[in-house]
Amino acid sequence: MSERIACINPHCRRTFKAEEHSSEVICRKCFRSLPEHVRKEHRSYWREIRMWDRRSKRTGDELRITKMIALRDRVSFRLGRHWDTVIKPFFTQPEKPMGLESFLEDVGL
Ligand SMILES: [Zn+2]
Repeated sequence: MSERIACINPHCRRTFKAEEHSSEVICRKCFRSLPEHVRKEHRSYWREIRMWDRRSKRTGDELRITKMIALRDRVSFRLGRHWDTVIKPFFTQPEKPMGLESFLEDVGL
């Protein structure tokens, strides 16, 4: 039986196969409960990371590859910081009503 890691939302019981993801994950449902601007920012980091990955694979120029990897690392750092300071606190700070927005979405409000 392979090891599994849980969604970062402590109230969520979903788990993922450890080898498919990094050390921390969020499930689709919990991600959808985040405010739109938070989701947008998170996606934009990933988009930029994938862009640098693609571009660095297309060029044969070692110097450019090094620069692109540095830029990618910078975005990756910002993604990590956003995850730790915005996404995780959203689920771990007890004063915020958990999943209220997704509940309101579900009932059509
Ligand atoms: Zn979850």
